[in-house]
Amino acid sequence: MSVLVVGSVGIDDVKTAEESHKDLLGGSASYAAVAASFFSPVNLVGVVGNDFPDAHRQLYTSKGVDINGLEVAAGETFRWSGEYEVDMNNRKTLSIALNVFETFQPKVPAAYRKSDIVLLANIAPALQSMVLDQMEKPRFVIADTMDLWINIARADLLALIKRVDMLILNDSEAKLLTGVTNTVVAGHEIQKMGPRYVAIKKGEHGCLLFGPDQLFAIPAFPLTRVPDPTGAGDCFAGGLAGYCAQQKTVDFQTLKEAVLRGTIVASYNVEAFSLKRLESLTASEIQSRLELYQRLTTI
Ligand code: AMP
Repeated sequence: MSVLVVGSVGIDDVKTAEESHKDLLGGSASYAAVAASFFSPVNLVGVVGNDFPDAHRQLYTSKGVDINGLEVAAGETFRWSGEYEVDMNNRKTLSIALNVFETFQPKVPAAYRKSDIVLLANIAPALQSMVLDQMEKPRFVIADTMDLWINIARADLLALIKRVDMLILNDSEAKLLTGVTNTVVAGHEIQKMGPRYVAIKKGEHGCLLFGPDQLFAIPAFPLTRVPDPTGAGDCFAGGLAGYCAQQKTVDFQTLKEAVLRGTIVASYNVEAFSLKRLESLTASEIQSRLELYQRLTTI
């Protein structure tokens, strides 16, 4: 069982109140693919420019991520730069350069078309749909999105979410998409737009999972230091998708376990900039934090 991940692969500059780092590996698909790789084989579809460093490619392959679907196009790799306020729940995008993404037409290699779990990580919804068009009956399709697409590509996004099993977004995006302020009501409204399952992330306050007539709430893992929250949402989605690929069926019970795995991998990712923490992360560290989490949340 494998996961196909499509999304952005990019180079980030990230500034926090304490540190500033340039030319970091980033992109929604980078985080999601590496997070998923702790649970299942992963196939990556994306695009980079001919300036993309080999060291980054090696990180994917060292985690077993198949990058035959990572196209190299003439031009520069996608670049994003962001700055966090002292309250890290607030981030502003300083600059974004789509570069090779401007003309990207995702092509799913034949060997990937039967991947049974599809994770459409954050990228323009029209590109997410193009990937879905090329898949052969995936078992479960998950899509992530962001406020930008709700604002500038709403029609494309609404068309996409009719076709997915699960939509992942954060609380402010859920409000923006539905116009509803109450997060629980917003989740139900999104289910009416298509996806049977919805996960609404609430940053350090965890996540709400909506299923058919069911609701599950899960806190985030409590951390004392968060040097860089970038990619937490993508790791959450990746860990969740990777866990689903390990299971025979994907139902509400499976997804409860899956959001727990996503939560744990995301909690490790924010302990360092870029994918540095995921680079050294081991299966036994994931297991020990799962056990600690269980002790923290059981009376
Ligand atoms: P997150 O912190 O989960 O929002 O993910 C951050 C990652 O998303 C960064 O590594 C960026 O490179 C990437 N990113 C930022 N803006 C976009 C965008 N418009 N489309 C795709 N990826 C983006």
